[in-house]
Amino acid sequence: MPRGAIIVDKERCKGCGLCLVFCPQDVLAFSGEHNRSSYDVVCMKHPEQCTGCGFCAQTCPDIAIEVYRQKKPKDGS
Ligand code: SF4
Ligand code: SF4
Repeated sequence: MPRGAIIVDKERCKGCGLCLVFCPQDVLAFSGEHNRSSYDVVCMKHPEQCTGCGFCAQTCPDIAIEVYRQKKPKDGS
């Protein structure tokens, strides 16, 4: 089971590719799907490899990515 997942806001994405470069797990790729501004938007090519590290969201200049982390089975509480 992947440790994380992301959601890309397709209309915010400008297809700059920064998130692809900064993802340490090679999760992301251009989807070939174009948004209303004709940008090729990003998708999860290998969702099973996502760790939820958040680098992609921190890198995105357009705040187009939301990251979700899988909760650990025990959180110590
Ligand atoms: S959260 Fe981390 S592993 Fe997942 S897509 Fe973003 S940069 Fe890659
Ligand atoms: S960094 Fe943001 S704007 Fe650039 S391709 Fe990734 S999601 Fe799209």
